[in-house]
Amino acid sequence: MSEPCTIEEHLERVLGGVRPMTPVPQPLLETLGLVCAEDVVATIALPSFDNSAMDGYAVRHADVASATAGQPVRLPVVGEIGAGQATVRRVEPGTVAKIMTGAPIPEGADAVVPYEWTDRGADVVRIDEPPEPGQHVRPAGGDVAVGDVLVEEGTVLGPRQIGVLASVGRATVMARPRPRVVVVSTGAELRDPGEELGPDSIYDGNSFMLAAAVLRAGAVPVRVGIVGDEPDAFLQALEPHLEGADLVVTSGGVSQGDYDVVKEALRREGVWFGPVAMQPGKPQGFGMVGPGKTPIVTVPGNSVSAYVSFEMFVLPAIRTLMGHTPVTRPTVEARLTRSVHSPEGRRQLLRGRAGTDERGRYVEPVGGSASHLIGALAQADCLVVVPEQTTSVDADERVQVLLLDEDF
Ligand code: AMP
Ligand code: MG
Repeated sequence: MSEPCTIEEHLERVLGGVRPMTPVPQPLLETLGLVCAEDVVATIALPSFDNSAMDGYAVRHADVASATAGQPVRLPVVGEIGAGQATVRRVEPGTVAKIMTGAPIPEGADAVVPYEWTDRGADVVRIDEPPEPGQHVRPAGGDVAVGDVLVEEGTVLGPRQIGVLASVGRATVMARPRPRVVVVSTGAELRDPGEELGPDSIYDGNSFMLAAAVLRAGAVPVRVGIVGDEPDAFLQALEPHLEGADLVVTSGGVSQGDYDVVKEALRREGVWFGPVAMQPGKPQGFGMVGPGKTPIVTVPGNSVSAYVSFEMFVLPAIRTLMGHTPVTRPTVEARLTRSVHSPEGRRQLLRGRAGTDERGRYVEPVGGSASHLIGALAQADCLVVVPEQTTSVDADERVQVLLLDEDF
């Protein structure tokens, strides 16, 4: 076996094979979590017309300025304006119009008297208190002016950005699309959840975990499911999914065993396979397959290895395709609650649970270092990074931690 490369070297290899996808116009609601690929400029003002902030009466301020509870002003009501009903276009001096929140202020009116300051009269209204000039009127352009940049290129679109885009009438926005990521599990021993389990079989946890991780990353998983350990069958199962795929992730079949199907099938396609100086996840592979040269990341089958490999290599590839930065998850510092050991020459990514106490952020190791411990993985919410040259870390020492459920 060749000398292991570093995580960074393998990541560079993977990222060398993926490029940000071309932005296309996308229906607004489908852009949640996508990177906006245009400076979106307002083509209408918000509000787009002067409108009422209260249910009450649209008045001319001068007509009601003298009103007090002791000496109220009584004025005829010339009509009623609901939201979406420009029924009264103008109020003449000495008249008012009933108006609802969001309804257009009629010409001539310059303030709204809320119901609470009146007797709610229908034909004639008694006004006990005057508004300030302009009070309870939401002026046109008071929020957004025509030409304002509402969302800058590069912004990750969230509910608030989608909200303002819809509010200025945008039905679509330019964004990089969600990559389609094909997920394949290999292994003659694998069965789908719900199937009968034999004495020598196990359930395929990985393709579900990886497909869920793809979805969480904002991409579209295409779960091919289980493929056995014959190279030709593997290639046949993969082939129909390559067209239209932006990335392929396989699990299993990349180490030194007799049935390492992925390695056997893809080595002839020029895919690189080799060890990476990490634990878990030492055997890795990356290359370009099929007529469209689709990038393929091959991760080992042990569940923790598969998950950690996803974090280290697949997630950055997906983020690159989507135009997200940074592509790798930032680390935070935490205090280790108990000592751990780590092999020399490999960066260890231990499972942990992070929390905070009066001394700041801490991390508690969860489970052992073995790479099949999916039960412990499911209890964990972070990875503890133990550098290559570090063979042990004592309790209370500070370590770098990757918080797995955090957005970045
Ligand atoms: P492999 O990388 O194919 O040599 O598999 C390494 C270990 O991971 C073996 O114990 C496999 O049974 C197990 N394994 C492989 N694929 C999966 C999977 N999809 N889900 C759960 N365990 C798996
Ligand atoms: Mg296998």
